[in-house]
Amino acid sequence: MTYPHTRLLIDGQWCDALDGRTLAVHNPATGEEIGRVAHAAIADLDLAVAAAVKGFQAWRRTPAIERAKTLRRAAALMRERAGDIARLLTQEQGKPLPEAKMETLAAADIIEWFADEGLRVYGRIVPGRNLAATQMVIKDPVGPVAAFTPWNFPINQVVRKAAAALATGCSILVKAAEETPAAPAELVRAFVDAGVPAGVIGLVYGSPAEISSYLIAHPAIRKITFTGSTPVGKQLAALAGQHMKRVTMELGGHAPVIVCEDADLELAIKVSAGSKFRNAGQVCISPTRFLVHEAVRENFAAALARHASTLKVGDGLAEGTQMGPLANPRRVAAMADFVQDAVARGATVAAGGERIGSAGNFFAPTVLTGVPLDAKVFNEEPFGPLAAIRGFTTLDEAIAEANRLSFGLAGYAFTASLKNAHRLAHELEVGMLYINQPATPSAEMPFGGIKDSGYGTEGGPEALDAYLNTRAVTVLNV
Ligand code: NAD
Repeated sequence: MTYPHTRLLIDGQWCDALDGRTLAVHNPATGEEIGRVAHAAIADLDLAVAAAVKGFQAWRRTPAIERAKTLRRAAALMRERAGDIARLLTQEQGKPLPEAKMETLAAADIIEWFADEGLRVYGRIVPGRNLAATQMVIKDPVGPVAAFTPWNFPINQVVRKAAAALATGCSILVKAAEETPAAPAELVRAFVDAGVPAGVIGLVYGSPAEISSYLIAHPAIRKITFTGSTPVGKQLAALAGQHMKRVTMELGGHAPVIVCEDADLELAIKVSAGSKFRNAGQVCISPTRFLVHEAVRENFAAALARHASTLKVGDGLAEGTQMGPLANPRRVAAMADFVQDAVARGATVAAGGERIGSAGNFFAPTVLTGVPLDAKVFNEEPFGPLAAIRGFTTLDEAIAEANRLSFGLAGYAFTASLKNAHRLAHELEVGMLYINQPATPSAEMPFGGIKDSGYGTEGGPEALDAYLNTRAVTVLNV
């Protein structure tokens, strides 16, 4: 499949913007323009919202079992097309092809899980205080949804929202990332080809701030869901509050990794190395602040640095590439700045630390040791291939450091002690904690953060509740 021109999906039709405007799409491995994406203006959004309103009326009246059948067909199409879609994803986003394939196949799995869970959206009958009355709890789809998704997992971030919305009977208008438009368009195409009616799903691109401020304020849109940075999330949540819209926010993280003295060190190193450099560290749950007990700190740091130095960095389409480029030049500049700041404050570069080459957005897998607490990398989300290590002596100290930041998305810990694991499970302020293993996000487990990392969850039954209104109806049986 050659890299396509990505169009908008409005009322079941793939179309260019009314004014014909487009934006360039670049391959982050080469910096070259590989295609264009249609840029919607307000007139296009008006048509898209009208279609979402019409689509909602049809879809909410479609039996859940029929909706589930349609969603399962979409999952099957994603599996059939995974090879081609993964190539588009790598070209526009940079991740190695096997990671892109995994993301595409995971979408099929997520769609199927939500299709099935949508069959179990039950109300309930509550015994009344007046026996002549029947008290019912009814769950209804909330209405047309506006979804805003980023470029790091262009398919995954859309599918978690779309599958949950469609399974509950909502329509959804997606604004996916302009930097990575083709892969999410293929996901949306799978829903359309599977038989999701016109208007039930829409797709637009354009100016993020213009689209979000217009859609959030629009009276027809009843629910907002956003994945992206904490500062943007706070702006959108505030705007949603002004218009009393339901909101789910998946925001930034700064995951601590606590390696205790009694940890299986080999396991801790293997998991940390594998997780840190996946998607070049551009992962909201990426392990970042490595807090390692003094007794094992040196060995851990040396092994992680060795691993980082031997990773094969290159074009994600090339055979054997283990880490691709960063998604855009902004991230390369940000990495250089994090490293420079840490070194200026006394940290040591144990691996990497520099841009690679001059074409494309490559930055070396980097390990920083002896990182002081006031270094930027220990406070702001690097969102890139940087591991920052410092030591600790007591678990109290490690837990206090892990909880020091306002982020609360993911956390990791390694310990052979059940007592430590129990303490960490209850005291670490994170939405997702993985002890003695890598992150294994799945459709059936909650996925989301606390504190400044957002609210709401995109996995498990709670993810469907986010798209439902719960209403009470009491009938006096006269
Ligand atoms: P950014 O904050 O400008 O953009 C992040 C995403 O939000 C992009 O997809 C962008 O299109 C969108 N966005 C920005 N302003 C918006 C608005 N007003 N309305 C709607 N959408 C808007 O940052 P960036 O330089 O693209 O990415 C860097 C930072 O973004 C990272 O440091 C990271 O914290 C965050 N990020 C987080 C995730 C995540 O999965 N939580 C994903 C991508 C980026």
